[in-house]
Amino acid sequence: MSSLRADLEAAARIGADERGGVSRFAWTSELAQANAWLMERLAELGLATELDPAGNVLGRWESGEGKAVLLGSHLDTVPNGGRFDGALGVLAALDVVRRLQADGVEPHRPVWVVSFNDEEGARFQTGMLGSRAFCGECDLDDWGGRGVPEAMAEAGQDFVRLTEARGVDEVGAYLELHIEQGPVLERSGVDLGVVTAITGILGFRVRFLGEANHAGTTPMEHRRDALAGAARAVLALRDAARERDDMTANVGVISAEPGGFNVVPGAAELTIDVRSPSPERYAGLEPFVRETLTAIAAEEGLGLELAETHRKPPVALDPDLQDALEKAARDEGATTLRMPSGAGHDAMVLAHHVPAAMLFVPSRGGLSHTPDEFTPLGQCELGARTLARAVRALVESP
Ligand SMILES: [Zn+2]
Repeated sequence: MSSLRADLEAAARIGADERGGVSRFAWTSELAQANAWLMERLAELGLATELDPAGNVLGRWESGEGKAVLLGSHLDTVPNGGRFDGALGVLAALDVVRRLQADGVEPHRPVWVVSFNDEEGARFQTGMLGSRAFCGECDLDDWGGRGVPEAMAEAGQDFVRLTEARGVDEVGAYLELHIEQGPVLERSGVDLGVVTAITGILGFRVRFLGEANHAGTTPMEHRRDALAGAARAVLALRDAARERDDMTANVGVISAEPGGFNVVPGAAELTIDVRSPSPERYAGLEPFVRETLTAIAAEEGLGLELAETHRKPPVALDPDLQDALEKAARDEGATTLRMPSGAGHDAMVLAHHVPAAMLFVPSRGGLSHTPDEFTPLGQCELGARTLARAVRALVESP
């Protein structure tokens, strides 16, 4: 059995839940067990291991001089998640070290492996807490109010020491292998995705205000139906996104008040999630949403309240590292596609500080965040071999 396969199987057993998936959350015994398992594997390869003050696992292959090439992803999962999201990137990083050592490579610069803590943010709705702390972007006020200090204390870590997790200054490049979590590679029959940018996200909470009234006696032309306005908004956003290839739009939550089958809805609330990997498109999203909803509200005779809930601009990944990954893939005989990532990753945090890049392997059926998440071993190994080749080129050139 290949080492990567054995590692994937071993990791999937830790935190395996009763619904056939994996549940490992920040500062729980399941993730602690996975971290301990990883640290043993890293130590077997002679790496110096550390659980840093933010709960990130680091394995340092100190070799040569200069800033480290950092490889990794995350071992935490969403509830009832799959075996590949995050874990593949960490285990591939381990595999890269194993391959380089087997080939007798003596790196000119350090090679580090990382498993970032709390990438998914499943437990406290945080998200990328570990990589943000590693990059010195601690948001102690926000995290402090979400139960993080208590969970850390229970796990034997100290919330006030989170700021000491900053390690990015010793890093020169970050590379992350990840499953695509979407259908593009599989549908196009391409082996690997070289990620160009991580999509920007803009979120809103919207409230249309109409007038509740009798569903039978109020003439149709005199109604101020808030839900009709919300429904038009759903379709207007969807249609606009369908016309473009660099934007998505989603309304995931919608409700009507007072909520009677024979009452014209007096108020309707919805959430909006719009995304684009293009900085130009992203810059236009906010005015676009605002103008679209304002026009609908005016036409329907409704009041409108629009509040921004989140804003994460798109992050471009490093062009030179993209080229390096593409070349490594070509040398492995793999086909590649340059593509944006529609999901957030630790790489988007790192990319603000150091050159960062990501390599995608296909997700069967485009599925992720479910126990059905799957990537055939051959594709996982092709990704790991490509990553190893790219890293070798980075650490063999002085
Ligand atoms: Zn992930």
